[in-house]
Amino acid sequence: MNLNELWRAALGEVELQISKANFKTWLQNTSLIDKKDGVVTVVVPNSFTKEWLENKYHKFILKSLRNLESDIKDVNYQISQNLTKEEQRNKNAAIKEIPETIKKQLEFQELNIDAETGLNPRYTFENFVVGSFNELAHASAIAVTKNLGRRYNPLFIYGGTGLGKTHLIQAVGNTVKKENLHKKIKYVTTERFTSEVVTTLRSGNLRPNNMDEFKRRWREFDLLIIDDIQFLSGKEKTQEELFHTFNVLSEAGKQVVFSSDRHPKSIQNLEERLRSRFEGGMVADISYPDLETRIAIIKSKAIEKNFQVTDDIFEYVADNIKKNVRELEGALNRLIIFSHQTKKELVLDDVKKTLGSILNTPKKATTFKNIIKSVADFYDVSEKELMDRSRKKEIVKPRQVVMFLLREELKSSFPFIGTKMGGRDHTTAIHACEKIKKEIELDQNLNGEINLIKEKLYLI
Ligand code: ADP
Ligand code: MG
Repeated sequence: MNLNELWRAALGEVELQISKANFKTWLQNTSLIDKKDGVVTVVVPNSFTKEWLENKYHKFILKSLRNLESDIKDVNYQISQNLTKEEQRNKNAAIKEIPETIKKQLEFQELNIDAETGLNPRYTFENFVVGSFNELAHASAIAVTKNLGRRYNPLFIYGGTGLGKTHLIQAVGNTVKKENLHKKIKYVTTERFTSEVVTTLRSGNLRPNNMDEFKRRWREFDLLIIDDIQFLSGKEKTQEELFHTFNVLSEAGKQVVFSSDRHPKSIQNLEERLRSRFEGGMVADISYPDLETRIAIIKSKAIEKNFQVTDDIFEYVADNIKKNVRELEGALNRLIIFSHQTKKELVLDDVKKTLGSILNTPKKATTFKNIIKSVADFYDVSEKELMDRSRKKEIVKPRQVVMFLLREELKSSFPFIGTKMGGRDHTTAIHACEKIKKEIELDQNLNGEINLIKEKLYLI
């Protein structure tokens, strides 16, 4: 792979991990111009982008590059004015367009997000594969489109990363839009909604009418869709605004749809009255797809992208990527790039080689510290309290979860766990681990919480 191809392939992966809008803003005008002693140099248009990439996306970028070429150790970001002549030439070569057909296959094409609704037309029910893992969520979403504001209000969809939540809730919006041209629809992320609340409050002293204007604007929708509502955790003012917005909308028979990576019960620092609103409509989860469904998904994506390979290849990919549809799609994109580069029909051996680095990377070993930190972050409790003798009610469960994870993930001994977690007896550790193990079977929420903590634990 030359530098150019390397960067394109890496971007193809990064794109799947960050929001499209962010991808466009921060990565579109970048190129890779040098690779020396394991350090690659990426050129960026300005210092702002440089800072942003270094602080926010460095890990994604480095990981994607490493997946492609494992000897890459670091990335150096350089502002484009400071280039030498030769680097400038490389840059010009790198900017050359990806052929249109490949662009289409990889969906590199310009986003056509609808400015008014915020919806991306690519998310529809037609291209959403249904299996037992998402059946309830799908059926509820369809029901909502047919009974707007009347049947399930709100609709609350939750599940792990990359499993189709955004796709599904946007499909609700796109369907309603298509069938009812006059309806006012809005899709926003929680981050966006929060930042609007914050900006409005800040400017409130100068222009007191802003808050009225804000309220008016958010209360006029027939369908309001808010994505990743777990980010509301701890944001008191935003929670308050959302609570009132929801009440006004639902009383007027308008529909609200939420997504979250966890059940309402598992969102920390959430006002009780809002939690009970979330639970007051339909709460539907999305779990993990089974093998057959994974094969169906990857096949349908391949058809969409006009890319053909033999069934054994689809089966191999689906067999190896189990917990994330976005990753299934990422693997497919890699194969498309590979087959474009080699210009030959793919056979299973190529696939094993191409995907080897992502499929066979052993889970990075986690550590005691990581486990404590992940659990403390997740439940929003202090690390110190987790590890001392505090008997506070809200600490008990998180501490048991730590003990369980220490046992499961690190294979720590019970005496070690007991000693580390506040000088407790080994029987306390045994009891905690068994309790959590049993409860996971019975309690979907706890199971979801632990899956999320693990996901974060092994992220990068
Ligand atoms: P989430 O919001 O749960 O993190 P997304 O909705 O962003 O996940 O889905 C990740 C990717 O996987 C998207 O490109 C989406 O189109 C695709 N995807 C997820 N579930 C399905 C499905 N059931 N059928 C088809 N594509 C899916
Ligand atoms: Mg999402």
